[in-house]
Amino acid sequence: MIVARTVQELRERRRDLPSPVGLVPTMGFLHEGHLALVRQSVEENAATVVSLFVNPTQFAPTEDLANYPRDAERDLALLEAARVDVVFAPTAEEMYAPDHEAWVVLDRLTRRLEGAVRPTHFQGVATVVSQLFHLVEPAHAYFGQKDAQQVLVIDRMLRDLHFPVLLRVGDTVREPDGLAMSSRNTYLSPDERRAAPVLRRALDLAEQLWVEGERDAERVRREMTALIEQEPLARVDYVSLADARTLDEIHVVDRKAVVLLAVRIGKTRLIDNAVLPPGEPLLTRRPS
Ligand code: AMP
Repeated sequence: MIVARTVQELRERRRDLPSPVGLVPTMGFLHEGHLALVRQSVEENAATVVSLFVNPTQFAPTEDLANYPRDAERDLALLEAARVDVVFAPTAEEMYAPDHEAWVVLDRLTRRLEGAVRPTHFQGVATVVSQLFHLVEPAHAYFGQKDAQQVLVIDRMLRDLHFPVLLRVGDTVREPDGLAMSSRNTYLSPDERRAAPVLRRALDLAEQLWVEGERDAERVRREMTALIEQEPLARVDYVSLADARTLDEIHVVDRKAVVLLAVRIGKTRLIDNAVLPPGEPLLTRRPS
C-alpha cells in the first residue's frame, strides 16, 4: 500500500493503477461503516484509492474541526489489511491554496436539512469530492447511505457536471443496539451513548407505520418527534419526511420517500435516515 501525501505523488501513483479504480472518500477515524465501503470497492475494482482528509471547508467556524477525532496510524493499518492500493492523505494546504477561489455549489438540494443548519457544508463537500474525482479519475465512488443528503447531492453533481463516475451507495452500518456508526459517536458520554439508539427507534416507528398503511406524513413526523422527546437527553433538530429525489417535504407518502433525522444528544449532533418503502434503495438508477 502506498501513502501519497501530495497531489503530485497521487497523480504519479494513479498512472500505474490498473482499471477500474474505486475511490472511497473519508475523513478518517475509520469504523466498520467506512470499512464496508472499502471492502466493496476492493471487491469490485482492480485497484482502490481511499482518501483520509478532514476537509476544513465542510466545517463551519463553530464546528468541531480542531477536535474531530483522528488516528492516522490505526487507519493506515486497517486499510493495509483491507488490501487498499493507495491512500491519499494530504494536508489542508495541499488541497487548498491560500487564495483558493473555485467552489462547486449546488442549488436547492443543499439548502434544506443539513444545509439549512450548516450553510457552507455541502459547498465544501462538493468541492473536495470534485477535486478527488479529478485527481483519482475513479470508475466507481463509494458513499454511505448514513449521509443520505450527501448521497443525493453527489449524485446530482455527477449528473449535472457529467462526471464519468458511477456512484455506489453502501447500507448504513449499525452498532448492535441500532446506533449508526459514526466517528462522532466517540463524543458521547456513557449516558448519552445509552440514549443515542432513540434515532433508530424513531426510524423503526416510521417504517412500522408505513407497513401498517399510514400515509399521512405529518402524523409520522409527529409520532417520531413524540418518541424522541421521551428521551430526556435528546433534542430534535429536525424530523423530515421528504421526497427521495428532491428532499422536498411531502404531505402524503405516495412515492419513494426518505425519513431524515438530526438529533442532539447532549452536545453531539447525530443524523440518521431510512427509505420508505422500507428496503428500497435510496437512489433510483438512471439508464446509462
Ligand atoms: P466520513 O468519514 O464521516 O466523511 O464518512 C466517509 C464515508 O463513510 C461517507 O460516504 C459516509 O456516508 C460513510 N459512512 C459513515 N458512517 C457510515 C455508516 N455507519 N455506515 C455506512 N457508511 C458510513
